Amino acid sequence: MHMLDGYDAFTTVGRTSGHKINSVMVRSAKPGFPDVVDDRYRELMNTYRKWLYITKLRRSGHLLELHPKLDVHPGDQAFDCVACPCPEFNFSWNEVTEDEWVYFRAYYSYDGNFRAYRKNKKVDAGDVCFSDGLAYFPPMQEYEEWVKSQPEPKKSQEKPTCDNHKAGKDNSVKFAGRDVTGIGAFTCTSHSCVAPRGMVNFFKGRLEGEGPERVWVHFNEHSGSTSEQGPGMRLDTWCNVACDWGFVKATEMHRTLPARFCEAKKSHAEQLREHETLTSSFPRRKIQEWESESIEPKNENDDGNWTTPLMDPVLKGGYYETLREERETETEAVRLTGRRSGAVRWIADGIELEHSLQNLKDEQKALGSKPTARQAELLNSKRLALRDRIDVFMQKRVLHMLEIDEPDQPRPLEFVGEDSEWAEPVELGLPSSYKADTLAKAGVSKLAEIERRLRRGVCTDALESVKRLLGGKAAVIKFKNQHLSGQVATTRAESTIQKHTVKILKARQRYLNSRDALLNLEPTEKDLDQYRELRNQDLQTLKTYFEEYAQTTGHGRTSMSWIWRSAAAPNKEDWQIDTLKTEWFRSRERFKRWNEQLVLLKREMIMSIRSFRQYQDLWEWKASNGQPSPGMRSYALKRSAFFGKLARQMLGVSLECLKDDVVHLEWANAWLKDNVSDGVFIEIST
Ligand SMILES: [Zn+2]
Repeated sequence: MHMLDGYDAFTTVGRTSGHKINSVMVRSAKPGFPDVVDDRYRELMNTYRKWLYITKLRRSGHLLELHPKLDVHPGDQAFDCVACPCPEFNFSWNEVTEDEWVYFRAYYSYDGNFRAYRKNKKVDAGDVCFSDGLAYFPPMQEYEEWVKSQPEPKKSQEKPTCDNHKAGKDNSVKFAGRDVTGIGAFTCTSHSCVAPRGMVNFFKGRLEGEGPERVWVHFNEHSGSTSEQGPGMRLDTWCNVACDWGFVKATEMHRTLPARFCEAKKSHAEQLREHETLTSSFPRRKIQEWESESIEPKNENDDGNWTTPLMDPVLKGGYYETLREERETETEAVRLTGRRSGAVRWIADGIELEHSLQNLKDEQKALGSKPTARQAELLNSKRLALRDRIDVFMQKRVLHMLEIDEPDQPRPLEFVGEDSEWAEPVELGLPSSYKADTLAKAGVSKLAEIERRLRRGVCTDALESVKRLLGGKAAVIKFKNQHLSGQVATTRAESTIQKHTVKILKARQRYLNSRDALLNLEPTEKDLDQYRELRNQDLQTLKTYFEEYAQTTGHGRTSMSWIWRSAAAPNKEDWQIDTLKTEWFRSRERFKRWNEQLVLLKREMIMSIRSFRQYQDLWEWKASNGQPSPGMRSYALKRSAFFGKLARQMLGVSLECLKDDVVHLEWANAWLKDNVSDGVFIEIST
């Protein structure tokens, strides 16, 4: 029994295959003489499966009395998330006042994983599925019949509207040699526990380079061994892995939730400071005007252009407009000439990748040399996601750039590597990395034209951002000089100015990057005049220009930065302040999100405690109802005590956060008042 327990832990928590464990056992049976050890692999697998079956039955309360309310799924072999809302289990709707309803929504994410396929191999006659319909998958037969009854989706020319939704694309490819091509799963969004009966097999579709969703990173290590298993055994294995994953998550809640609370509290305070800083940098009447404005999307001109105060304006001739126009032209060209589609999107992806690479670099720099473990993990997962995006991009490259050689005017980009080292520089190989005649010889000059237009769009947008941010910066400086006195107010205003400077420099970077590419792409005279070198001394506000202008006599030579020359002088009185409106609304929303996050964490802590308490009560109830055998009774009592211990542990570590009045959740306070006294549960004697 101990051996099988250990075997189970190695295959779940340890993420090891049965084969590897078997090799270890062969070694320890007779070190140095593997040949004299009998091959018992099949027996091991067989025994383990039976052991697992019996263990699952026991944990599901098999043969024990069913609780009239709590045993909703008799024989349930899944383990639901303890921190997510489950009505009449870890909370009751009648405890929640209407204004707190919003915090009781359950959020789920859905994603497909195409590494968890099954090879189309002969199925053993003895391949039964013990968990069929009882744990994470719907009943096999019913599900297969349902899938067959669904009509084939029509092949359409239309691309999915969402470019980045991986599971939505290319779902009609049948992959040879695999009878199950992957798994789809619902997981709770904040803790990534798999939802009971929330997994399905896919029989079609295959995708490349999925992003490293955390739950799949873990599950992928099981993909190798499960791909060889029979359909029944495979489902049992996946259910066991999902169940164990959920169990581990539950037993880690006492660490993860308080840690998240502390981090969120820090961000909450920072964001509040930032928002107050911004607020104090403007005249009161402006703030009042903004405070009364709704953030709901508006369709003011009734032209289908929805806007909110949270959005940057979509610019004429800017990147997004150009992208939309180019894609429309492309669709038309594809229809008329049968040209390959997707080139515009591919080039746009390349440009956006360049920005992401730069952002990651900036983020790493901002973290400094000693990031916390969580920060490092976050950065690393972003790095991996970016790596995947680059891989997909490079795969598509051949389709568009055809047989072209290596770039002859390369534009290598720095890429953050593991443990703050640098990885190999990335060369995306866009048309701008080639000389014009090389592109012409390879027959892809058309792509250079597309890139040229998109680059102009990026330059236009970035330049406009620079101007807008400079305007905002000037507004803050003006307000500070005219109205603010005292250390605190001045420091706050200076911090706003500082933040703006960082943003201005980022916009400048984007501008220079695309301008650099544009210069490689045979720019026109107009390009050279419109998109000039943007030096640091060009980043001066219009106000500085006007002041200098007023001081110079003759006005023969001015130092006005070229960026303002093309712009009409702003005549609206509040022009400069309005440039900061988006910033103000965004900072307010960010603060609200952290506030909400803290409330949700309080809710999750109480729910975890209450889930554990429910299991404690349920197993105690099972021990004393329906006359169980002495062995089963003692098992039920032990299980009850186990959950009781988890509940007390969770309460112990959560109390400080729950009592923190940084945010208020009445539901949590009321429950604490009724159930906890002096830090321990009030035991109701029966
Ligand atoms: Zn959850």
